[in-house]
Amino acid sequence: METARARRRPDPSAATDVEILIDPKKIETLAQKNSFADQAFASFLKTLDPKSVDAIVHEVAATVTAAIDCTACAKCCRALVIAPDYKDVSELASRTEMTTQDFKKKYMRLDTEGDLVFRQRPCPFLASQRCTVYESRPKLCRSYPYLDQPDFVGHLNRTLRNVHVCPIVFNTFERLKSDPRLKRDSPKAGHRDVPAR
Ligand code: SF4
Ligand code: SF4
Repeated sequence: METARARRRPDPSAATDVEILIDPKKIETLAQKNSFADQAFASFLKTLDPKSVDAIVHEVAATVTAAIDCTACAKCCRALVIAPDYKDVSELASRTEMTTQDFKKKYMRLDTEGDLVFRQRPCPFLASQRCTVYESRPKLCRSYPYLDQPDFVGHLNRTLRNVHVCPIVFNTFERLKSDPRLKRDSPKAGHRDVPAR
């Protein structure tokens, strides 16, 4: 289950020549339009060495992330279903001065897979574009949108969904598609000798 954001503001020292699209409607329109090409590119990435792809993704995502202000976006906190784990629930209950039982009763429900998730979307702790439980936010909120994590190739389905939600993912994926290191004839990404998963 995937969740929401870290509190990121643009890095003033970040490259200024990075053209970033943040309008959610435009992103959704383009993500829909690009979906066939995105699927094809994802299939191509699966033929490459995952560690080489990770190195390129981490570099590109870091540049894009530095240019985006999450506090002006909060799309993930509005759009995604949040699934805190047991420890997250315990911390959130303590933060909101409730018992775990009362917290679950007030804020959570079981989803169709039997996971406990926040019953409300947007997230009940989002107020004026800010996370009101920031220091106690669930672990997955801290990790979203996961582009600094290993095994990008192993999580392409998740990324293809997040292209529709998160400007960081959308802009990173667009750059990856035109990155010369990820072209079919580039030796940089370390093509595999065997068919990909
Ligand atoms: S807990 Fe905070 S960071 Fe996580 S979805 Fe809710 S508002 Fe966003
Ligand atoms: S959707 Fe992406 S860009 Fe927007 S707040 Fe969440 S992590 Fe940041």
